[in-house]
Amino acid sequence: MNREKYSRQILFPSIGADGQEKLLESKAVILGCGALGTAQANALARAGVGTLRIVDRDFVEESNLQRQILFDEADARERLPKAIAAARKLKQINSEIAVEGVVEDIDNRNIEGLVSGFQVVLDATDNFEARYLLNDVAVKLSLPWIYGAVVASYAMTMTILPGSTACLACLFSSPPVGATETCDTVGVISPAVSWVAAIQVTEALKILLGRRQELHGAMLAYDIWRNQLQEVRPRRDPDCRVCGAREFAWLNRSGPTHTSLCGRDSVQIHAAAPRRLDLAELKTRLAQFGRVRANEFLLIFSVDAFELTIFPDGRAIIKGTHDPTLARSVYAKYIGA
Ligand SMILES: [Zn+2]
Repeated sequence: MNREKYSRQILFPSIGADGQEKLLESKAVILGCGALGTAQANALARAGVGTLRIVDRDFVEESNLQRQILFDEADARERLPKAIAAARKLKQINSEIAVEGVVEDIDNRNIEGLVSGFQVVLDATDNFEARYLLNDVAVKLSLPWIYGAVVASYAMTMTILPGSTACLACLFSSPPVGATETCDTVGVISPAVSWVAAIQVTEALKILLGRRQELHGAMLAYDIWRNQLQEVRPRRDPDCRVCGAREFAWLNRSGPTHTSLCGRDSVQIHAAAPRRLDLAELKTRLAQFGRVRANEFLLIFSVDAFELTIFPDGRAIIKGTHDPTLARSVYAKYIGA
């Protein structure tokens, strides 16, 4: 171990040299690599958490840079997948740890494989479906996870230890219905992100260090602009369908074929069956219909009013429409059903 690198953390009595060794042998997975995910990954990599996996479906855009701290203008110009750009930056920050960037959309078919074998999951997703899916798999595998969400100047977090604390479904049996405020409709400021990521990371370190008795044990919500802090102590619901009856409805339902990317004028289309696209071949074929750009991870195809970002696993983000039917027909026309 490089003691100098971690010297200030080793001086902190709750970590010490033994704790630092433990962190270097620890494994954490971060689901989502936007504002929350980059802040969490940055702190965990610097702390010397030995193995980090970062999963994200999206690519870097200019509007991310105000709050997504691992990305720069070159990443946005190159349209690098966020998981790849983050992994590259983290290796420069700390070359002693193993960082894996996974470019995938999290769904019920892949989530178990993505989180299995890790000691803690940090939630940095941007939608309720992903969090309920994560709650299901975490309870199923008895895996601690740390909920986090932020919008505007308001952020919330809760640490879930399956079997001992309330789970997400104990508090809210299902996701809210109807429109909810998101970063795409009411914006977000980076200090609110930093606040909630700091708490999530602190909780993750306590879990990795085996200091569960020091977890905060609350649902914390803070409006950093208005300086309003709320703290409630959630109780387990004995009738909870997830952690009581162990019914994993989100994990067991059939996977989505499309997802609207809220506020982005985009629809994400999933391949109906697993496939592997040859991006070089596709680039040659699509060049006769419109403008094509590519990097080693994805291909960007502009045609009519649409811009298609196509990934090797057959997933595509169709920009220029909110209409899933239209997006699917554009997908079928150029990529194939
Ligand atoms: Zn529960």
